[in-house]
Amino acid sequence: MNLLYQSTRSEDVKVTASQAILKGLADDGGLFVPERIPALDVPVAKLAEMSYQEVAYEVMKLFLTDFTEEELKSCIAKAYDEKFDTKEIAPLADVDGVYYLELFHGATIAFKDMALSILPHLLTTAAGKNQVDREIVILTATSGDTGKAAMAGFADVPGTRIVVFYPKGGVSPIQEKQMLTQKGDNTFVVGIKGNFDQAQSAVKALFNDKALAAELADKGFQFSSANSINIGRLVPQIVYYVYAYARLLAQGKIAEGEMINVTVPTGNFGNILAAYYAKQMGLPIAKLICASNDNKVLFDFFCTGTYDKNREFILTTSPSMDILISSNLERLIYRIAGADAGKNKALMESLAKEGSYSITPEMKAQLSDFYGNFADEREVAAIIKKTYKDTGYIMDTHTAVAAKVYSKYVDQTGDRTPTVIASTASPYKFTRSVMNAIDLQYNTWSDFELVDELSRISGVRVPNAIEEIRTAPIRHNTVCEVEEMEAVVKRFLGV
Ligand SMILES: *Cc1c(COP(=O)(O)O)cnc(C)c1O
Repeated sequence: MNLLYQSTRSEDVKVTASQAILKGLADDGGLFVPERIPALDVPVAKLAEMSYQEVAYEVMKLFLTDFTEEELKSCIAKAYDEKFDTKEIAPLADVDGVYYLELFHGATIAFKDMALSILPHLLTTAAGKNQVDREIVILTATSGDTGKAAMAGFADVPGTRIVVFYPKGGVSPIQEKQMLTQKGDNTFVVGIKGNFDQAQSAVKALFNDKALAAELADKGFQFSSANSINIGRLVPQIVYYVYAYARLLAQGKIAEGEMINVTVPTGNFGNILAAYYAKQMGLPIAKLICASNDNKVLFDFFCTGTYDKNREFILTTSPSMDILISSNLERLIYRIAGADAGKNKALMESLAKEGSYSITPEMKAQLSDFYGNFADEREVAAIIKKTYKDTGYIMDTHTAVAAKVYSKYVDQTGDRTPTVIASTASPYKFTRSVMNAIDLQYNTWSDFELVDELSRISGVRVPNAIEEIRTAPIRHNTVCEVEEMEAVVKRFLGV
C-alpha cells in the first residue's frame, strides 16, 4: 500500500510521493506531510554494515513508496557518486568527544548538496511516472546555499529550467561568486533588492498564482520547488541521521540502542525536522537541540510558545540562517496540533496576517524533545577560535552557532549523552568570517589569500568548488525589485 501525502492545511487532498515531489507546495498553500511516519524496519546493527547509498535506500523506500526499487536505487547512485569528495559521503569528525557530522563534502560544499544532488533525479523520475510532458521550472529563493546547490543539481538536466533569487548584499562573497559563475543554459540567477524572507514569500506567491500557472501551462511550463518545503528534499535529509547513528555504532562509540542527542544550526527548520522524523521512525535520538543565530525567533518560540516574526531582520556571519519565517516549522505545528489541518491553518493565517501566532499549552507540552537556544556574533567568533586553538579543527560560522548552543546546553543541563552536531558548511564557504574569527589581522587580506591561508593553517586541501571559482567568468548579472520577480521569470522563459 502506498504511503500518501496530504497538505498541512486541509484533509481532502491526498497524493502519492511522486506527485508531492512534483508539486512542491500543496494548492492550498500548505506543505505535504506523510499520513504517518514509517518505522525503520532494519535493525541498526545491520545498518552499521551498510554504505551511505544502502542506508539511503532503506530509509527512502519507506517514504517514497510509489518509486520502484530500481528507480530509487538509480536516483541514489546518480546522486551520491564522485561529486562527493569522500566515499563516506557524510563523515563524522570526532572533535574532543563531540561528533561533527560533516554534511559539506558535495559539489557546493554546503549541506544542501545532501538533498539537492538527488532531487533532480527524483523529480525527473516523478515526472515520467505521472506523464508530465511540460518543462519543469524550478523557482527557488535562497539565503545563499540552496541556490548554488540546486543549480549544480539541475544544470543541463533535460526538461528542466531553474531560476534562483537571492538577497543582493545578504550572502557571503564566495556564495555570490559561486552562484554568479553558474554554468548551464537552463540556469538563471537574480539578485533581489530585499531580504531572504521577502524572496521566499514572493516565490510562494508565484507558486500560488493560479492565473500565472494557467498562462505558463499554455506555453508548456510547470513550476516546481527545490526549496526545503519539498518532501523530495526532506526525505533525503533523514538519511544522514540514520547513517550517523549507524557509523557511531560501527565505530564502537555507542552501544546498540543507546540514545544520542542531535544539535542542528537552524534556519528554515528543514534539517532539524528531518532529525525529528528520524526520531519518529524509531532512531534512538533523545534531544533535538535547535541552534539559532541572532535571528532567534525559534529560541523565543520554544521558550514562550509564541512565534513572532515582527522584529528586526539581522544580517549575521551565518547568512544561511538569517531567516524569520522558518517554513518547515509548519510541519511540526501540524503534528503537535494532533495532525489537525484546520488548527494548523488558523495559526498559519495568523502568521500571514499578524506576523505571529501562539500555540496552546497542550501543543507546547509536545515540544519537550526540543531544546532551543542561540549564539550571538561574538560567541560564534569566539568558539571558532577556541576550537581551533584547542583542537586544530576549523568549523564554519553556521556550525559554530550549533557548537556554541550545544555548549550552553551542556552547561545548563549537565547532559553528557553522546552528541552529533550537524556541520552544515565547509569553512571555505565563509572564509572571511572564519579567518577574522581566528585573527583580526586577516581583515585586510583578499578572499583568495584567505582561502590559501585557511588551507595552510588547517591542513585541509582547498575544495574543488572553491578552486573552480578562482578564475570562472561571471555569467549572471540580473538584479531586480521584489515586485519585478514575476516579470523576470517570464522574460527568462520567453513568455
Ligand atoms: C540552509 C543552511 C542552514 C539552515 O538549514 P535549515 O534546514 O534551513 O534549517 C544552516 N547552515 C547552512 C550552512 C545552510 O546552508
